[in-house]
Amino acid sequence: MSGYLFQGVTLGENEVSLRVQDGRIARISAAPLDPLPGEQIHQGGRITAPFAEPHVHLDAALLGARAPNKSGTLREGIANWSRLRAELTVEDVRARALETLEMYASHGTLRVRTHVDTGSLLAVETLIDLKTEALERGIELQVVAFPQEGILRAPGRQAQWEAAVALGCDAVGGIPHFERTAEEGWQSVRMAFDLAEKHGVMVDFHCDESDDPGARNLEVVCAETLDRGFAGRVVAGHCTALHSYPNPHAAKVIELVAESGVQVVANPLDNVVLQGRYDSYPRRRGLTRVDELWAAGALVGIGHDSVQDPWYRLGTADMLDPAYMLLHLGQLTSDAEMRRIFFCLSGDNHLAFGGPPELVEGARAQLLWWEDLDPVEILRARPVPLTLR
Ligand SMILES: [Zn+2]
Repeated sequence: MSGYLFQGVTLGENEVSLRVQDGRIARISAAPLDPLPGEQIHQGGRITAPFAEPHVHLDAALLGARAPNKSGTLREGIANWSRLRAELTVEDVRARALETLEMYASHGTLRVRTHVDTGSLLAVETLIDLKTEALERGIELQVVAFPQEGILRAPGRQAQWEAAVALGCDAVGGIPHFERTAEEGWQSVRMAFDLAEKHGVMVDFHCDESDDPGARNLEVVCAETLDRGFAGRVVAGHCTALHSYPNPHAAKVIELVAESGVQVVANPLDNVVLQGRYDSYPRRRGLTRVDELWAAGALVGIGHDSVQDPWYRLGTADMLDPAYMLLHLGQLTSDAEMRRIFFCLSGDNHLAFGGPPELVEGARAQLLWWEDLDPVEILRARPVPLTLR
């Protein structure tokens, strides 16, 4: 690898010069550094940690054109996927996952957490096997055992979900709002924690991905997290029902989310398309309450969710796209809010990976260089960063 010299670049709050040699950050200096022979030099701009993707489905990625979602609903997406799932092969899953991971890396994302439907143990095993090769490409991959069709709705599903976790997943998934009854949803949440405790892994739910103001799984996830000491190891994805809760109940649950240390991952691209489908007008946006979660001190992440899959065909694997959508849908357009959204991608999005990599002397040079300094301009133009991996 040739060397890089970034002169007068902004790193955090400071303007520095930063040298990369042999894949490591060799020097960070307040004063300009003299170039070395053969070094690639970049002037100005901003350096950040790589982006992290906390929520995608690599097993279904790039399949959207094979089964277009005519109604646009989550339910049709699930039905189309279950037909495609039966035809999966190792080669097919592997090729699409690698292609999608490279799409992520080409846009500066070097950590990816994928959910994988435990309805196909072939897909689970294939993606777990891919972790080593991904790492060799500079991409850290985590796999969540996700029971797309629930664990209590039909015989056999629980056993497949448990078998998937035993194959070596990083986290136990769940979909409590999709179980048959509210009680079975809550039961599935507790079963997921039990299984995570048994295997010493994390928990990551698709949680209340619905417009139903009566969906009540998020509070159960938070209570279990508190009671079992799981803070920092639990993600609740979507949480779109929170959008539609009566305000007094939303306030109570948001307080609980903050207290429990559960991270809520918003997936604005999918949810603005999938939610609100039972509304006439006014039509709800189906996005969780990011502004109120932030105000309460809760952890929020931003997920892409779908890269051209049966639920949403337009994914690009560029994390700036869900960020751009989030700031619009959430009306998070003050300078401070837009900056917070941008830095979430290289900051709080890394929670499941133990926090963002530190950019200090001696550290591996996994970093992004942005020609533009201004996060708002980066969100507007969505350029491709120089990515060192
Ligand atoms: Zn998802």
